[in-house]
Amino acid sequence: EPILVARGVEKRFPGVHALRGVDLEVRAGEVHALMGQNGAGKSTLIKILTGVYPRDGGTLSFEGRDFRPTSPGDAQRKGISTIYQEVNLIPTLTVAENLFLGRAPRRWFGVDWRAMRRKAEELLATFDLRINVDQQLGTMSTAVQQLVAIARAVQTDARVIIMDEPTSSLDSHETELLLGIIGRLKARGIGILFVTHFLDQVYQVSDRITVLRNGTFVGTYEASQLPRLELVSHMLGKVPEEPAL
Ligand code: ADP
Ligand code: MG
Ligand code: MG
Repeated sequence: EPILVARGVEKRFPGVHALRGVDLEVRAGEVHALMGQNGAGKSTLIKILTGVYPRDGGTLSFEGRDFRPTSPGDAQRKGISTIYQEVNLIPTLTVAENLFLGRAPRRWFGVDWRAMRRKAEELLATFDLRINVDQQLGTMSTAVQQLVAIARAVQTDARVIIMDEPTSSLDSHETELLLGIIGRLKARGIGILFVTHFLDQVYQVSDRITVLRNGTFVGTYEASQLPRLELVSHMLGKVPEEPAL
């Protein structure tokens, strides 16, 4: 069932009509890829979905209700977490502290550190991430930091996780790890929207693909039904033949 639905989204910047009538639907337990050439409007759409920018037209709904996020924090509280390329956690805190920031288990005298560390280890183990939860986050690789950010989103009960080019700074091993974790998020019923330029990743993990071109909506396609070459030609700007939706 759809969790996050955008219809007819419009966005203008001075001199640029960045989005014209864009539709998008992210379902529970779906991995949805967002593709398009540079400047197509992918990041702008994501920023509208997460309350970074207001929209100039169209409607958004989240879990069946009108959705008007006022900031990324507001979107996160409502169930949409964004994983940025630059990790937006606190590098001087430990992994466990970052995971439970603002939501640490407490006892009468304050934070229950032992319970917090145990819960952090349990959470990371569900993603097969065996890292030291007492280590300062800022001392770990970008990839590990990104995976911790994803674990934090799960910890905050995200219904949709949005990632803008999550693999762009990862090596091939780290990319495989991330794609494996995306599969586990899906199994938890979380909807994933991710921007990528890599068709092999799209075919490896996504259920559906939405293609944008110059700010316009080209179509949403079932990944399994779309031959590779056909998608490539869509990306290059030809008219779609058979939108699946
Ligand atoms: P993509 O992520 O697909 O590469 P963007 O959403 O970043 O595309 O950009 C879409 C269009 O909107 C581009 O023409 C870009 O220059 C323009 N744009 C994006 N953000 C801004 C902004 N904050 N101010 C002005 N123009 C912008
Ligand atoms: Mg770009
Ligand atoms: Mg972008």
